[in-house]
Amino acid sequence: MNSTELMQLDSSCVMQTYGRFPVAIDHGQGATLYSPEGKTYIDFASGIGVNCLGYGNKAWLEAVTTQAKKLAHISNLYYSEPYIRLAQQLTGRTGMKRVFFANGGGEANEGMIKLCRKYSYDKYGTGRSTIITLRDSFHGRTITTLTATGQDVFHQYFFPFTEGFQYAVADDIESVKALDDGTVCAVMVELVQGEGGVLPLSPEFVSSLQALCQEKDWLLAVDEVQTGVGRTGKLFCFQNYGILPDVVSFAKGIGGGLPLAGIMAGEKTQMVLTPGTHATTFGGNPICCAGGLAVLEQLNEEFLSSVREKGNYLREKIASMPGVTGVRGMGMMLGIGLAEGLQCGDIVKKLLEEGLLCLTAGHNTIRLLPPLSISQEEMDQGLAILQRVLAG
Ligand SMILES: *Cc1c(COP(=O)(O)O)cnc(C)c1O
Repeated sequence: MNSTELMQLDSSCVMQTYGRFPVAIDHGQGATLYSPEGKTYIDFASGIGVNCLGYGNKAWLEAVTTQAKKLAHISNLYYSEPYIRLAQQLTGRTGMKRVFFANGGGEANEGMIKLCRKYSYDKYGTGRSTIITLRDSFHGRTITTLTATGQDVFHQYFFPFTEGFQYAVADDIESVKALDDGTVCAVMVELVQGEGGVLPLSPEFVSSLQALCQEKDWLLAVDEVQTGVGRTGKLFCFQNYGILPDVVSFAKGIGGGLPLAGIMAGEKTQMVLTPGTHATTFGGNPICCAGGLAVLEQLNEEFLSSVREKGNYLREKIASMPGVTGVRGMGMMLGIGLAEGLQCGDIVKKLLEEGLLCLTAGHNTIRLLPPLSISQEEMDQGLAILQRVLAG
């Protein structure tokens, strides 16, 4: 089917929940994508931070196809090697203690929220279930993670929302302390707010938050769904801040393109979720975990330092482009601030016409999440398009 046929068929039989761009993608190689008609696009979006190794990565393909031939699924009633080895890698490389595997970010955050509340219930009983999150955060689309999301636009239509969430202001530790009414069990944050506008938390705020959590025995829960798996130049973003959270969620990049997610628990939270308290049919799927192992194998120290270098390169080039007021972010998670009068939505549409896929985020921001494996040549091609479009 060609692009027009695909769009027509979609409009007749698919729920119209997405504001899609008028573009269909047929296949990809490296960080370059191809429409059914053969139009090429440089990818600065990675399918929203998922395709961290780009498209057609040999080792990933080999791992996934080999596993597909051996065993596609077995359920969590039995042991299998891929999820165990992946958990070993994740804990060994982070200092976290145990992993639970899920399938997507919102679902992983649900598990993290359950863990936080049960930790507190086990230790203190009822009445201590409030979770503090931040304004401008994004934590998912389930009813509970929508409630956790600290943006009012997400709190519509689906009433009643889950009780027990309070919102503080990023980088304002007093606003967190002001919510201490004796019912708090955890604080949940993204270290770089993604959907909210690529807004990194200040190191001072994060270390005050960690100290406050320790003092109050609140769990520090970090949503690394977008920032994790090499995106910010370390395997996990908390490693940039020199902290060890009590619980961390991850998703997007981990499967290298397959649906895989999870939570990692630290020393004092590792035994909270006991048999029967949490489960999912697909969690730890062997093919997805084989993909995850191939991803982690490639994300070694040398690769991660190349992510930091590429991020700095992109940042420097973009900072001097017309209409750019600043570039925020960390590693290869970048947000471009635009001068007044420029609309990020309009610009992303023009970029698309010129052959560059980018994302938007809150605060009129163009968001870039290129494949971490993107080549110098592809970066330069993408930058040339960006320069041209911003110059008008
Ligand atoms: C994307 C995202 C989610 C939701 O993940 P899904 O896989 O879409 O459920 C949650 N938190 C953050 C920080 C995200 O970026």
